[in-house]
Amino acid sequence: MSALGDLGWEAYPAEGWEEISVMDERNTPMRSYQVCNVMEASQNNWLRTRHIARHAAQRVYIEIKFTLRDCNSLPGVPGTCKETFNVYYHESNNDNLWFIRESQYVKIDTIAADESFTQTDVGDRVMKLNTEVRDISNLSKKGFYLAFQDVGACIALVSLRVFYKKCPSAVHNLAHFPDTVTGGDSALVEVLGSCVNDSEEFEAPRMYCSADGGWLVPIGRCVCKPGFEEGKDDCQPCRPGTFRTSTKDAYCTKCPPHSYSAQEQATECTCDKGYYRTHTDPPSTACTRPPSAPENAISTLNDTSVTLEWRPPRDTGGRADLVYNVHCRKCVQEGAACGPCGGGVHFTPRQFGLGTPRVLVTGLLPNTDYTFSVEAANGVSGQGLSPRQQLTINITTCQTVSVILKERRSKDSVTLAWQGPDRTNGAIVEYEVVYYEKNQRDQNYTVLKTKSNLMTVDGLKLGTTYVFRVRARTDGGYDSYSGEMELETSHEDVLAVGDPNQSTILVVSIAGGVVLLVFLVACFIVSGRHCGYIRAKQDPDEEKMQFQHGRVKLPGSKTYIHPHTYEDPNQAVREFAKEIEASSIRIERVIGAGEFGEVCSGRLRLPSRREICVAIKSLKAGYTEKQRRDFLSEASIMGQFDHPNIIRLEGVVTKCKPVMIITEFMENGSLDTYLKKHDGQFTMVQLVGMLRGIASGMKYLSDMNYVHRDLAARNILVNSNLVCKVSDFGLSRVLEDDPEAAYTTRGGKIPIRWTSPEAIAYRKFTSASDVWSYGIVMWEVVSYGERPYWEMSNQDVIKAIEEGYRLPPPMDCPVSLHQLMLDCWQKERSERPKFSQIVNMLDKLIRNPNSLSELTNSSMWEDPITPELSVSSVDEWLDAIKMGQYKDNFASAGYVTLDSILYISVSELSKMGVTLVGHQKKILASIQTLHVQGNHVQV
Ligand code: AMP
Repeated sequence: MSALGDLGWEAYPAEGWEEISVMDERNTPMRSYQVCNVMEASQNNWLRTRHIARHAAQRVYIEIKFTLRDCNSLPGVPGTCKETFNVYYHESNNDNLWFIRESQYVKIDTIAADESFTQTDVGDRVMKLNTEVRDISNLSKKGFYLAFQDVGACIALVSLRVFYKKCPSAVHNLAHFPDTVTGGDSALVEVLGSCVNDSEEFEAPRMYCSADGGWLVPIGRCVCKPGFEEGKDDCQPCRPGTFRTSTKDAYCTKCPPHSYSAQEQATECTCDKGYYRTHTDPPSTACTRPPSAPENAISTLNDTSVTLEWRPPRDTGGRADLVYNVHCRKCVQEGAACGPCGGGVHFTPRQFGLGTPRVLVTGLLPNTDYTFSVEAANGVSGQGLSPRQQLTINITTCQTVSVILKERRSKDSVTLAWQGPDRTNGAIVEYEVVYYEKNQRDQNYTVLKTKSNLMTVDGLKLGTTYVFRVRARTDGGYDSYSGEMELETSHEDVLAVGDPNQSTILVVSIAGGVVLLVFLVACFIVSGRHCGYIRAKQDPDEEKMQFQHGRVKLPGSKTYIHPHTYEDPNQAVREFAKEIEASSIRIERVIGAGEFGEVCSGRLRLPSRREICVAIKSLKAGYTEKQRRDFLSEASIMGQFDHPNIIRLEGVVTKCKPVMIITEFMENGSLDTYLKKHDGQFTMVQLVGMLRGIASGMKYLSDMNYVHRDLAARNILVNSNLVCKVSDFGLSRVLEDDPEAAYTTRGGKIPIRWTSPEAIAYRKFTSASDVWSYGIVMWEVVSYGERPYWEMSNQDVIKAIEEGYRLPPPMDCPVSLHQLMLDCWQKERSERPKFSQIVNMLDKLIRNPNSLSELTNSSMWEDPITPELSVSSVDEWLDAIKMGQYKDNFASAGYVTLDSILYISVSELSKMGVTLVGHQKKILASIQTLHVQGNHVQV
């Protein structure tokens, strides 16, 4: 309230306060009110301001600047001279009062000067400015007037400042608090805050404005809404690519993997195309996708049940809630319509929502094609339009025995004959004939066994109806029973010759055959009757029948016949191989090279048979007669075999050129290549399942007295169901065909690494030497196609074996398997297990997978015969352990020196793209055995 112009204050009486211009301390001109009537007594001079509006203030402060003359410095002044003045105020809503009585004023204070001034010696007046501040509380009217009462002093009022205090507007905890005028007395003013833009109240925000204009005691707060994050005093929108879902999250965070936010303010990120979330997945989790199809199915068929196993899908879609569903379709007869499997088929533990990659399917019909589609599913399967990926497993159950009533002979005997099943779950060992008096099954029944397929049952009652059933026992277990056949013995003791044309032919597929089997076995034990072989009266032609159509009918009594035993080798081909019309073959592509020409895949369509995929070996043009004979000898040998683990001969084309051998097609090619390609990808049970198949095929061959001589993983073929079959039966093969074969000192050509010492030394090839080779195949399988004895020379291998060294267990090899390998490599061939024992042993391991969990301690890297490799760079090391494909991965992850890899972890390997578990294990196992020596490393 200072002014240079006329202030227009009221002063009375007229000779009291007057408004003049003076110079301040810095010689600046200013307006002031002065009074200095010190020479007269009884002064009462009033100076009143104009109406001062209070605004919102309840308490105002008054700052007065003034000068005051020291009475003593005034010459001749009377004793009435004063050195103080009084300040008053009057509250009023009227801003235009023309008169206020003295009694209407309220006194604020009497003001004295802190410093008064005197005349100097030189006559200058030095002004001493005083500043005093007073306050008035609890104002309530529109405004007030101030008044200055002089009672005889010499004063100049230089400036008057009237002000009030407020707490300045502020943002605290994201709440905005407005400008707030302080309270009337010293009380705090409570102020409610309002949430800043894009925020919401978490707890009602409050603060107190103190009397001196400061904010005190903040309570409550606001938080940014989803899609925004806290800035300095405001909420900032989340930038594209980030999101904030809940007010509980501190800040906007980056979109999780496989999601994006294109706009600002995202409260969650949208999944990339093909990726999804379930409604229970929080927005902070990565978007995921349905899994890929399961892989590498193995089916183990046992009569009318099958165990299906598979590898988990390569891509789980990023989720942990993986389950498997198995769909089943069946085709009862070739060409007939296929449909769902129906209720008779049972899945253990269940059909849908399987937690483990394995299911046992029981209750299948015999002689039926089944297709199982295994799909992996997770929480987001079914979202989006893409179809679920499935793994298809086709199996065909074995046929039951077809019983033909040959003749009824007498009042107390009947003769039955039957035809063995076309397809069995192994070689037929014998047949079992069960019969009982009709309606007497519970009391009395008889079980008879025969290796023949003809039987006369004696000792029956006259004129009585009997029920007969027949089933085959194979080396893979029992097949299903044939249908029931009722026969009545004659009433009279006469010879009743059956009319062959009216023979009853029963071919019955029995679902529930297994139940019946259990029932019969139970009855058998209760009745205490003995089952035994009866001397079946055999058809005198039986011997001839064994080799009908080039197929051995009764494996129990059959022996392999060497094609050279035939004077005319073409006769052997005609005997054992079916001639196929070239027109029923369609060649599609070349899949390999054989000794005699190309190997192709294609299709074969025979009259009244389904079209099948086949492999076609052809004899290249310009062959000699000996080559033709040798080429076809493979067919003559293969054609004698009929076993699920022996490559099956479909037939030969000899009547036109090129001469061809047609076999079943094995989709996955040779086992060694297949394992190398799928290193580390199978469970141990799956590997043992493959080995079991090979052993079962070899048992069949050894039972037939066939010695293979070149058993090795490269000569095993694998089909799409991972069934392994023994192949490569050519006569010349060991000598010419096998690139592994080397000349021995005795001149023969032998695959040294796979061959037993006695066969190398003096060509003693037997089933026992095949067992030695089988042990090597086991080692190849468990090590995923590693080369036996690595890069050792053939001479070194022979020497090492002679000195008693044997291949060490491959990585992760169960103790039980390595022990079996060592048994196969017994120096004394009579001490090696037989193939039948090997099959039994592997069956036990498969039935009890826990027996595979004890692993050998040593690894192939520690064995004394392991060659020591000296490597000097990461690349060399990777090459040495056959992981060269990861060179770039290591280099780009910064692993360039050998000591940098010593502490690498599994997660680090995954991050750099080594994701296959088998490969990770191999790399880590190798690192554990690294000994860095300067710049060199010993592996
Ligand atoms: P081989 O003359 O029997 O050694 O056959 C040469 C190559 O052809 C083998 O290594 C296989 O890759 C392929 N092969 C032979 N037979 C079959 C078959 N039945 N199914 C699929 N591939 C086969």
